[in-house]
Amino acid sequence: MSEFLSSAYKNMRPYTPGEQPQGGSFIKLNTNESPFMPSPKVIDALNRENIERLKLYPDPGAGVATSDIAGYYGIKPHNVLLGNGSDEILAFCFMAYCAAGAYASFTDITYGFYKVFAGLVGAKPHVMPLNDDFTIDIEAGIRAPGSLFLANPNAPTGLALNENEIEHIVKSRAGKITVIDEAYVDFGAKSAAPLIEKYKTLIVVQTMSKSRNLAGARIGFALCDKALIEDIAMMKFSFNPYSINRLSLLAASAAIKDDEYFKTCVSAIINARAFTADGLKELGFDVIKSSANFIFAKPKRVGGLEYYTRLKEKGILVRHFDTPRLRDYVRITIGSHDEMEKLLATTKEIWREI
Ligand SMILES: *Cc1c(COP(=O)(O)O)cnc(C)c1O
Repeated sequence: MSEFLSSAYKNMRPYTPGEQPQGGSFIKLNTNESPFMPSPKVIDALNRENIERLKLYPDPGAGVATSDIAGYYGIKPHNVLLGNGSDEILAFCFMAYCAAGAYASFTDITYGFYKVFAGLVGAKPHVMPLNDDFTIDIEAGIRAPGSLFLANPNAPTGLALNENEIEHIVKSRAGKITVIDEAYVDFGAKSAAPLIEKYKTLIVVQTMSKSRNLAGARIGFALCDKALIEDIAMMKFSFNPYSINRLSLLAASAAIKDDEYFKTCVSAIINARAFTADGLKELGFDVIKSSANFIFAKPKRVGGLEYYTRLKEKGILVRHFDTPRLRDYVRITIGSHDEMEKLLATTKEIWREI
């Protein structure tokens, strides 16, 4: 770092993304991407004609994709705002509601970016420990000061709150913003999106990175009351009105309209998840019940780091978090059935070697 960095950022600790080896032949089960390609409709939409239009700026209001997403959820376009990945939407929420010393509340074990965004905007973080079984202390969430950020299902545990629990939290936090980050909701939890009309303090954040096979396109969106959309849009238009490129907007529209392909992919992941959970349990793992496209599991025969390292040596990448409450575990993204068979076979091989 140089001597010129603003003093406000001297202690900043940026987010560490999972490894993204470029090239190479890893089975990549470390960043919760989909093993499946985008919808064939997405591929058709990214044609030569649309590539030629890259000479023009994209629609800053993302009109078409916004309407398509609103149509899918049965809400109005003024209740939807697109961002460059849900990370950007989350950043805008921190900017809009937690800047300059306002509280940002989140749990100790959750998406690591919340802490980073809190630091970026100068929020006061309020960190709530999860219970010993990694479930959320709902009463602590209700009492939490300022804006509350909850991932549902949570990461990296995969545990989900049900719709009554979510509504209870949002309802009891009247007068305070509650952001529900639903990056993994399509894999087994209920979306809080139907509640946005009833609760003007609720922001539901979703992404096309996981369940719609578009991590590389960077499409996320907020669903919430019109006044909140205006707040978030103010952040976007004060930062980068063109944050979503033309091709990604086309991809978003095509993906949201191909419900059949979406359902096929999601159900393949859910089946592969059940297969993997059973296999891991047979191999002596503690497996936390997952409602997401990953499994959080404790190998027991070795520490999380050793299991991660041995898998990597054999060409399989999973995610290990070296923090006190998480280091015995690994987070394994659910890939294709074949990839999960390889994970289980490789684990058997490792068990034979030790
Ligand atoms: C992956 C993930 C995101 C970010 O998704 P993008 O839309 O790719 O930026 C946000 N929240 C959680 C909990 C995630 O796991």
